[in-house]
Amino acid sequence: AAERMSLSGGQSHDMLPPFTAAWQYTDAQPLIITKSEGIYVYDREGNKYLDALAGLWCTALGGNEPRLVEAAMKQLQTLPYYQSFWNRTTEPALELSSQLINMFTASPMAKVFFTNSGSECNDTQVKLVWYYNNAMGRPNKKKFIARKKAYHGSTLISASLTGLTPLHGSFDLPVQWVLHTDTPHYWRNANPGESEEDFSTRLAESLEKLILQEGPDTIAAFIGEPVMGAGGVIPPPKGYWPKVQEVLKKYDILLIADEVVTAFGRLGTMFGSDLYEIKPDLVSLAKALSSAYMPIGAILMSQHLFDEIAAHSNKLGGFSHGFTYSGHPVACAVASECLKIYQERNIPQHVSQVAPAFQEGMREFYKYPFIGEIRGLGLIMAVEFVADRDTKAAFPTDWGVGTYFGSRTMAHGMLVRVSGDIIMMSPHLIITEGEVKELVSKFGAALEDLAAYIEE
Ligand code: PLP
Repeated sequence: AAERMSLSGGQSHDMLPPFTAAWQYTDAQPLIITKSEGIYVYDREGNKYLDALAGLWCTALGGNEPRLVEAAMKQLQTLPYYQSFWNRTTEPALELSSQLINMFTASPMAKVFFTNSGSECNDTQVKLVWYYNNAMGRPNKKKFIARKKAYHGSTLISASLTGLTPLHGSFDLPVQWVLHTDTPHYWRNANPGESEEDFSTRLAESLEKLILQEGPDTIAAFIGEPVMGAGGVIPPPKGYWPKVQEVLKKYDILLIADEVVTAFGRLGTMFGSDLYEIKPDLVSLAKALSSAYMPIGAILMSQHLFDEIAAHSNKLGGFSHGFTYSGHPVACAVASECLKIYQERNIPQHVSQVAPAFQEGMREFYKYPFIGEIRGLGLIMAVEFVADRDTKAAFPTDWGVGTYFGSRTMAHGMLVRVSGDIIMMSPHLIITEGEVKELVSKFGAALEDLAAYIEE
């Protein structure tokens, strides 16, 4: 495994892989995964890896759930495709819509719009919000506020909402009507002695200041992940969501919950909105929606938004937006079965039961002085390496601490996500306590290797 990570003796291939630097695909062989089984994946050489990221935070039910395969096969045999434009649709799309409306209870939802991905959801959110504001006779309420370190996707608009500089750099992004406010990262950004509540208050005040600076009448919506994911797994500090929601309400700004990672049990509740009492006007869903067996995304639109749009519909043109594969019947049939499994097996409760072994098990690693923070809840986690725990100073980039650690986890038979010196994990929601212990022990073995590497 370590050899495959090395740059020498690699082979180029014909694919242009996403989020990959040119030297990686010209000089190094790709890791070719050929089979999955529960929480494990196998490469072409037969090496077995515990997939601690569940694909890309998505294969919630693991690699070989027969009910999802059957649901796909059955739908493929009856109706592999029909479209959903112009009020034509299919039974699986209708069934999945009602399931989602019934499952989401944090705020009353009325309608579902289907996409193929999280990025498409968030692009669509922008259009829906603008469409709504047009209906309300305020077409200039157009700007979006997202957060630094947010991840909302990689299409032009969702990448603009994303608050990570690599997604902006070469692309003349973000577009000028997207603004970014503070990252709610207590460990990194709180002032000395500041409590979590006070930190949250300061962030809410900073958000309000931004709104007032720009003019409240120009701000349409705020988008946020209940727990930030790809930006480094950042759970909100105490009081954050109530305080933010208070500010948004004051200025009549819509709230979009991007639950692409947090939905369906990852935090131990069915949705992140349930845990933090977020009352979104719109919700983005993807990933675990189908346990990633088929590409699908969905937007939930709240009752009050829909009522306003419906009331003004004679003044509006149609919502001229959608995709050939919106509401794809095979994807919907798989997602529908997937949601039944989450409910029948009470996946959120299962996550709550195995989470302590994960969260507490991982926190034992604070014994290593080069770990700055171990953060997360439920089945989501990040470990951040620092050269100095007190100053939180980073290791020199050319040490490649994160990359080295990633190669060691592979050598010990595990796949994690490496982003600089932050290691992220979001294991399958079906992981057992025994498997959690295996994950923690593999992580520990790689940490031992890293300790030796740092000492050298
Ligand atoms: N939103 C969040 C919170 C995500 O984590 C992601 C992907 O990681 C997306 C949106 C984008 O989803 P997709 O990659 O399906 O376009």
